[in-house]
Amino acid sequence: MGRVQGKVAIVTGAAKGIGAASAKALAREGAKVVCSDLDEAGGEAVAAEIQRLGGEAIFMRHDVVDEGQWEQVTKLAEDRFGGLNILVNNAGIAPEGGPIEDKTLEQWRHTIAVDLDSVFLGCKHGIRTIKKTTAKGGSGSIINISSILGLVGSANASDYNAAKGGVRLLSKAAALECAEAGYRIRVNSVHPGYIDTPMVRGVVDRGMSGMPVSGNEMIQFLTMLHPIGRLGVADEIANTVLFLASDESSFITGAELVVDGGYTTR
Ligand code: NAP
Repeated sequence: MGRVQGKVAIVTGAAKGIGAASAKALAREGAKVVCSDLDEAGGEAVAAEIQRLGGEAIFMRHDVVDEGQWEQVTKLAEDRFGGLNILVNNAGIAPEGGPIEDKTLEQWRHTIAVDLDSVFLGCKHGIRTIKKTTAKGGSGSIINISSILGLVGSANASDYNAAKGGVRLLSKAAALECAEAGYRIRVNSVHPGYIDTPMVRGVVDRGMSGMPVSGNEMIQFLTMLHPIGRLGVADEIANTVLFLASDESSFITGAELVVDGGYTTR
């Protein structure tokens, strides 16, 4: 038996990076997975790879800031796979860095929309759907991908800090609501350090505001921030997602799992 055998999952931002690794890990361990993303080619490819390896997956183009599309994606999970047990709110963006005094309200609102409003919408529609699925048995788990920057501050990342910090406490509020209502749904947040994904490669290529280096020099700089001596890989976050999705973590709710190679330890 797989570790999430028979469960149904939605993973947002599943076309690449942490989302792709999480979708594949959940499918490998027996979940039926709805892969959602804006990137249709990448998302279709991940679903196809899961199927090729004998798993069950479908792709839906899904913009996580659109509430109507949350209704559609949760309905798709119910119609195609019979319900929903696991939701991984992973899709997100790393905005252009810059000081607060230069940031426009439009830039701020865009980051908050994609990195925080999306998680609110996911929790709202996820709880409604998982509650129905698990009313007569089984269990549910919502995993919200925050960041080390949801725990500690960073100059030039005020909007990302605010969004990811918001995800941390939104997760705790959702965990308490589900527990107090007697729903079989746990809600937790995950806080990755720098993980080698297309998002981080994009940041490395364009450079970071306030940092005089880019490219290889920047990789070296980021590596130094992690006592373990390297950046993380997407599978290391996927393994955490898998643990929180499975019943192995059945007494864990409202927790923040820090997976950062020691970044926030010092
Ligand atoms: P990634 O490589 O950029 O992948 C993210 C995926 O989300 C992309 O396919 C992207 O599509 C999609 N996406 C962006 N906006 C979307 C929207 N509005 N609706 C649906 N899909 C959307 O990112 P990642 O590094 O795997 O990061 C995944 C999550 O982990 C994010 O929430 C990120 O903030 C968090 N995180 C990452 C790191 C890290 O070091 N990588 C560290 C801490 C936290 P497009 O490419 O088409 O935009």
